[in-house]
Amino acid sequence: MTASRVLVLNSGSSSLKYQLLDMADGARLAMGLVERIGEQSSRLVHTPLAGAGAARREQTAPIADHAAALKAVAAELAADGLGLDSPELAAVGHRVVHGGTRFTQPTVIDDEVLAEIRALVPLAPLHNPANVTGIEVARSMRPDIPQVAVFDTAFHATMPEYAARYAIDAETADRYAIRRYGFHGTSHAYVSRATAALLGKAPAEVNVIVLHLGNGASASAVRGGVCVDTSMGLTPLEGLVMGTRSGDLDPAVIFHLARVGGMSVDQIDDLLNKRSGLLGMCGDNDMREILRRAGEGDAAAVTAFETYVHRLKKYIGAYTAVLGRVDAVAFTAGVGENAAPVREAAVQGLAELGLAIDAGLNSVRSDEPRLVSPDYARVAVAVVPTDEELEIARQSYALVTR
Ligand code: AMP
Repeated sequence: MTASRVLVLNSGSSSLKYQLLDMADGARLAMGLVERIGEQSSRLVHTPLAGAGAARREQTAPIADHAAALKAVAAELAADGLGLDSPELAAVGHRVVHGGTRFTQPTVIDDEVLAEIRALVPLAPLHNPANVTGIEVARSMRPDIPQVAVFDTAFHATMPEYAARYAIDAETADRYAIRRYGFHGTSHAYVSRATAALLGKAPAEVNVIVLHLGNGASASAVRGGVCVDTSMGLTPLEGLVMGTRSGDLDPAVIFHLARVGGMSVDQIDDLLNKRSGLLGMCGDNDMREILRRAGEGDAAAVTAFETYVHRLKKYIGAYTAVLGRVDAVAFTAGVGENAAPVREAAVQGLAELGLAIDAGLNSVRSDEPRLVSPDYARVAVAVVPTDEELEIARQSYALVTR
């Protein structure tokens, strides 16, 4: 029997998301989430997906740290006959947010790699420490199988220098590793490829603008399967309007808040990352709520929605210019997959760019990749559900079996 299962771990500062997949057939065997790690109100939700009668199980009991969380997950998996001690487990695939310029490919983790991921913490202080913890815990439980790091930044490493550079003093930029790295890379990789498949073409044959619109949001320009630009930069703060992040702004806003508003760097960081975007503009970061309020004529919700859509349109226009020829614009993630009004508004008025939407197709709800543009449109508009866990599992499995 060849080991063909991959456990995918996505460790956040107080959460652990996981999926167990069988790469022999791509089947998802189980998935779940541990939330509020380190608090009294920790919660584990486990959903076995294989076998008849499998039902979601939930437990609420304090879980002290990530080690305890992974032990609890292992116990749930074992109860379904999917224990982590199984010889069928081929690898553990870890989502790692920041790979810097060092990691541009999925990488088997050894002590040296782990030390380098740790060294990248200053570039991703909110994310990489949790990723490191997840790796350490999983390694201690299964030191005998490969642990693979799949980096959020990796897909964007192909950006040409002129897209990756900020126009600041080069020596300062290099000294502090300041450049545009981009994030959501596994999603942009997966969706750009799935969009090519939807068009019946090979990735190398198509140019795609991918709009990953979740609570975090980013756009990418993908030419022939290769990323040539993306909207997030040094950190996931740049670019589109997001649930709680501002996206693009004049950097002088920061100086102004410090000098005139008397705010500290940490306060401004908190403002721009956690209290801005849709939430900051109207008090809600959930697009469903914003659409409902906007429908009732709530002025703040209308302005938030319009600002969100305006920024999206600017990126569609910019990436059309970057790519020269666009075959498809693909919407993905929570908002992109579910919010038909956002798709409609983002494409409205862009007929000169070859973009149009079919209202009937756009209103259909489905979990399948699909086209929502009319046949006559020069550029296909697609809705392509993302699957970052499958992509991480695929990349991890390909690495350990090659
Ligand atoms: P994600 O980060 O990809 O899980 O996306 C989460 C976001 O998707 C939520 O904050 C909502 O704003 C949005 N979302 C999910 N479902 C819907 C829906 N049916 N309509 C509009 N927005 C949605």
